[in-house]
Amino acid sequence: MKQLIMIIKTKAFFRSFLLAIFINNFSFFAAIGQTSLEPDQKKAKYIFLFIGDGMGISQSIISDIYLKSIYKTDTSLFFTCFPVCGLTSTTCVDSYITDSGAAGTALACGQKTMTGVIGMDSTKTIKLRSIADKLKEKNYKIGIVSNVSLNHATPAVFYAHQPSRNNYNEIAIEMAESKVDYFGGGGIKVYSDSLINLERIYEIFNKNDFNIINDKEIFENWKSEDGKLYAINPILSSGESTPYVIDDSKESISLADFTQKGIELLDNENGFFMMVEGGKIDWACHSNDAATVITETLAFNEAIGQALEFYKSHPDETLIIVTADHETGGLSVGWSGTHYSVYYNLLRHQNISYDEFSDKINTYIGNHTIQNASIDHLLPLINEHFGLIYLPEEILDSLSSIENPKSVNLVETLRLSLSSKEMDMLNKALYDSFIKDNDSYSILYGGEYPLAVTTIKIFNNKSGVGWTTFSHTGIPVATYAKGINAGLFSGCYENSDIPKKIFESTEVLNK
Ligand SMILES: [Zn+2]
Repeated sequence: MKQLIMIIKTKAFFRSFLLAIFINNFSFFAAIGQTSLEPDQKKAKYIFLFIGDGMGISQSIISDIYLKSIYKTDTSLFFTCFPVCGLTSTTCVDSYITDSGAAGTALACGQKTMTGVIGMDSTKTIKLRSIADKLKEKNYKIGIVSNVSLNHATPAVFYAHQPSRNNYNEIAIEMAESKVDYFGGGGIKVYSDSLINLERIYEIFNKNDFNIINDKEIFENWKSEDGKLYAINPILSSGESTPYVIDDSKESISLADFTQKGIELLDNENGFFMMVEGGKIDWACHSNDAATVITETLAFNEAIGQALEFYKSHPDETLIIVTADHETGGLSVGWSGTHYSVYYNLLRHQNISYDEFSDKINTYIGNHTIQNASIDHLLPLINEHFGLIYLPEEILDSLSSIENPKSVNLVETLRLSLSSKEMDMLNKALYDSFIKDNDSYSILYGGEYPLAVTTIKIFNNKSGVGWTTFSHTGIPVATYAKGINAGLFSGCYENSDIPKKIFESTEVLNK
């Protein structure tokens, strides 16, 4: 049975138990619970590689703190409790600060390359074989899941070979012709021209015996005997990605559901390898939007939970690895204005992503001029989506004078109240929204929308979240592992060592 349904509604640590200690610049003790560092005398048959795009250690820890503070639980993120942890350098050939192309190529193909390159060496002339290719030759079934477009850099490095990550059309063709058995998540980004469009890509998929669906009910009922599947989320947002969880409707299929379906479809006697990317953690970090980072990281964690459920019934044959391609945003736990305290529970007042909020701000700006626009018009919108409030001085003084306020609401209202300096920042950002040629525009706002990004900066800072850049950083990331041969992933190593360790995990049976 082949299906081609194209009704796509395009819409718009340190629970890693504190065993990680830096010594002499870059040394790291692995966390070793019951897990031996020596390879086990069995091979990994079911392998999960989870990549949190942009998910540095801080992104994990703020999500962990948030989880505990909101749900009043001692439960940590699943992966920060894994028995093995390593420290992974993310540098690439041409920079200390990598991108998803170079980092993904290292994670998939075991070789460092130049920024922007997909599955090729640093000369951009030699195609590299990915761990997915190598395991396919050993008869593992292969699954690729991501909540960004499936021909975006991180998923692409497992099946494509292109000198530039921007060769979306060429990557889409390689995707459609690939030997992958299951794709799930976002759509495909193409630049339509006379030779290539989405319809043509779908035809190539069809020739490769793929069924393409974007219906939740069909997805839920899909069985392995129904054939190879590329399941696209029923709703797509920017860049053919699935919507942010914080903005999402119930019509979407979650990253956890795409992962669970992959387990169902790929499970076979020869084993499987499934890569699952939490791709929009990075996107939210580029906007310095902590609440959205957290909701995306929690959704990524839920997907890892599906792998853990599978692990329970195959503990001697399953290997789960969780890592990141790089850190994004220079995120810190703590901000100078909140000294030694953080108030991550305030982040629950945000109910919309930076993207959705900036759409609303831009609608306002489009309907006003620099002469008749006023921040006063926008304060209700800012309050509705972030809880930030501007209180007249006399009210603020009287509320602030209450000693030991018992009401959580009052304490939070005071913390969320906008100071006159913060009002000045908002006014300047509104002004700069109309004056788009400010010399400092890119440094102040990172190329993002001034008022939206400033509102979120103020809100983040009040919560004790600090950001240092709107781009990636060169900070090493943590790699967590659980299951058979997990010990291979302890210590300090390069991102390009990860696929080598994965392959080794499948080879140790007869050692
Ligand atoms: Zn990025």
